[in-house]
Amino acid sequence: MQFKKSILKTGFPMVAALLLLYPSMAYSTEIVDETSEEEEAVVITPVPEKHIIAEKFNQAEAEPFKILGSIIPPGQTRSLKWRSGQSIGSFVVPIPVVVVNGAKPGPVICLTAAIHGDELNGIEIVRQVIHDIDPEKLSGTVVGIPVVNIDGFWRKERYIGDRRDLNRFFPGQPHGSHASRIACSLFNKIVIHCDALVDLHTGSYYKENLPQLRADITIPQVSEMVNAFGSITALQSTGPTGSLRRAATSAGIPAVVMEIGGPLSLDPEIVDFGAKSIRTLLGSLGMLRKVNFWTTPQPVFYSSKWIRSDIGGILINDKELGQKVKKGDQLAEIRDPISNDSTPVPAPFDGVILGRAQNQFVSPGFAIFHLGIQSTPEKLKQEAKEKTVLKP
Ligand SMILES: [Zn+2]
Repeated sequence: MQFKKSILKTGFPMVAALLLLYPSMAYSTEIVDETSEEEEAVVITPVPEKHIIAEKFNQAEAEPFKILGSIIPPGQTRSLKWRSGQSIGSFVVPIPVVVVNGAKPGPVICLTAAIHGDELNGIEIVRQVIHDIDPEKLSGTVVGIPVVNIDGFWRKERYIGDRRDLNRFFPGQPHGSHASRIACSLFNKIVIHCDALVDLHTGSYYKENLPQLRADITIPQVSEMVNAFGSITALQSTGPTGSLRRAATSAGIPAVVMEIGGPLSLDPEIVDFGAKSIRTLLGSLGMLRKVNFWTTPQPVFYSSKWIRSDIGGILINDKELGQKVKKGDQLAEIRDPISNDSTPVPAPFDGVILGRAQNQFVSPGFAIFHLGIQSTPEKLKQEAKEKTVLKP
């Protein structure tokens, strides 16, 4: 599958529309950048009993779903408020959480987006998926948090107001840094009530990703979850320390990241793909009626490696996301605006473009292409076991 460069710069209207929901917002003041702190590494979250997705279908009947101080009866959809501790300026802003509690018993799936505030595709995917669900036809519960990092979202920034990456602080600490407290709140008030989690992201800072899952398929429940998505690219990775995915998986909640597109814009084509992928997941798990969107029902697995520029200059891409390349093919050229020299960037091996930097000025060492090497789950598991999986 190849996605053409069709990213529409529709981010700002989208942001403006969503912000109509929050008329009391004002700009917050950023604090000087700080490095990570030792205290954040301590895990204190109580781990719930092991979750088994299949067991939830065996209950006699659907039960009211209790979360965030509310009780949602079977067959109903509710919008709740998560008081995360985030504020915009001095105004405390609750985060909207949409809960669809199905009329029939089943597992609880959590969909999170915009943990990085500038990543918009996931917000729209959660909106499309969750508002399309008829609770009378749902088995189980879907919890959607379209904008986790409302502070960064408001400022069109990746990080929260204290310049920290929220996705490096899970499961968080109740008395830690601002980021750690938000992470702790999300994890304990919402995530531990779920049986599985899909966390939606995009490439960061002028980088864009082919729609893909990042998952630790050495964990059987995670591997089953990946297979339930149908035809999608899947990369083996354990996830960064402090990421929501890794913390959830460590707590017995199978979790995957869906990377999809680039930041600060909305791409309708890949948003549609992402929404269909999650609907496929819900159908495969038995939560919704199964709809076959794909001609090839299985994920395609990859290991991967980042290709870095060896010189500085202006990057001009020659290859699109999803495009197959052969060793020696020109991926891009780096142009020197002063000398007028042009340096080709060849593919170092056969692969598929899984991610790339958008055209921009780059420095030596800048990661410009994420090149995938097709693999098999068995091989990836073996490589993970041997700790030889290629990572950026
Ligand atoms: Zn992200």
